[in-house]
Amino acid sequence: MNFYVMTLFPEFICQGVEVSILKRAREKGILSVQAVNIRDYSGNKHNRVDDYPYGGGAGMVMAAEPVVRCYESILKKIKAKEQSASQPRVIYLTPQGTTFTQSKAKELSKEENLILLCGHYEGIDERALELIATDYISIGDYVLTGGELPALVLIDAVARLVPGVLNNEASAEFESFQNNLLEYPQYTRPEEFEGKKVPEVLLSGHHAKIEEWRRKQSILRTKERRPDLIKKAVLDKKDLAF
Ligand code: SAM
Repeated sequence: MNFYVMTLFPEFICQGVEVSILKRAREKGILSVQAVNIRDYSGNKHNRVDDYPYGGGAGMVMAAEPVVRCYESILKKIKAKEQSASQPRVIYLTPQGTTFTQSKAKELSKEENLILLCGHYEGIDERALELIATDYISIGDYVLTGGELPALVLIDAVARLVPGVLNNEASAEFESFQNNLLEYPQYTRPEEFEGKKVPEVLLSGHHAKIEEWRRKQSILRTKERRPDLIKKAVLDKKDLAF
């Protein structure tokens, strides 16, 4: 899977994918992440990419032209590489988008190419967005200084669902948000830490009992921490009785 990130701060993106699982997946060739500097498409000798907002008001707005030209160059690159490539989705990271979820990450992990657009300052001239954006995604109801952290959040969540990125496929299959439940608590050695013991059932080797305990913990935890989710959880008769 290939991510192309349109940004004014490519080093931010490059550093973010230079560690841990994303680094390994890139080295294995399962993933590629290319940060493309919008400033390279400014089209003026001062490399200016922002300007004052029409109508007045605070801050600067990223101009349409460099954004659209940058997008066209990425599109050209993709088409040159894969002539049959379908039109890639262009995701504008914005607090005005729909909130990013695990199911959206799953949907996006099926794409071959994704273009991510990071805004800065007061955002991007609306006309550029009308021309190129296919999706508007927010990572939560707060405002950040730029779209780079949201882009990295999206890349991380999507990439780990791409087959081969995680060593143990099961670790992406049974975890929080599958069927709208949070994951059960996890423990590792030692059996006792500062007087706190690992729940007995996990040491029993009895797989059915362990599964039952984990299921119940999952339901309890979701009910306590995310009552909004439990209403949408997929529960069978036994779960409901519990
Ligand atoms: N003036 C804009 C507004 O009120 O909607 C906010 C602009 S914000 C300071 C600058 C850039 O950061 C945005 O263009 C967007 O790319 C990114 N950004 C900020 N918060 C975000 C969030 N919660 N999710 C995704 N992107 C965000």
